[in-house]
Amino acid sequence: MDRPVHRIEVITNGPDETFALAKRLGQLIDSKTTIALSGDLGAGKTVFVQGLADGLDVPEGCYVTSPTYTIVNEYPARIPLFHIDLYRISSSDELESAGIHEILDGKGVIAVEWAERAGTDVLPADIAVSITIMDDTRRNIAFFFYGPQAQYLIQGLDPDNKNDIHMEQ
Ligand code: ADP
Ligand code: MG
Repeated sequence: MDRPVHRIEVITNGPDETFALAKRLGQLIDSKTTIALSGDLGAGKTVFVQGLADGLDVPEGCYVTSPTYTIVNEYPARIPLFHIDLYRISSSDELESAGIHEILDGKGVIAVEWAERAGTDVLPADIAVSITIMDDTRRNIAFFFYGPQAQYLIQGLDPDNKNDIHMEQ
């Protein structure tokens, strides 16, 4: 991809901070967006999607948890949220039968855990979020913004320029 990538890194101290950061992102999102999440088991991808869901106004009664027996969970929200977890996926046929093309053609926010298991050609992301475990409570959360919304989202996530921001060609 030739588009410039905007990158911002944030360190969170505890799940509440990761939730709040993702919630802020959810509040800023106002159109169809695909978010690819990567990071080891227990990094905080699901916590991130829970915060995102809150920011998108998924009703409180909907408990957001990783889809276990299905690949996709759909939640009603300001913009419908599709939560996909590819941890157990064994072939791309499973994504096809889960209706991935219809979802990608739709207008929802798509948050994908273990997105790297599908490949960027199958799931082109507007935002990639890579979470690294630093210790028991700290996570390094790197955002890579590919879409035209990059500047707006970075400004919204980091209004005081507190975090490391990079522009890469
Ligand atoms: P994943 O979906 O990446 O496998 P989960 O979100 O299910 O991970 O779990 C993350 C775990 O790490 C939770 O038990 C959470 O309480 C814990 N945790 C500790 N510190 C953080 C942090 N800074 N951000 C997110 N989760 C954290
Ligand atoms: Mg998870």
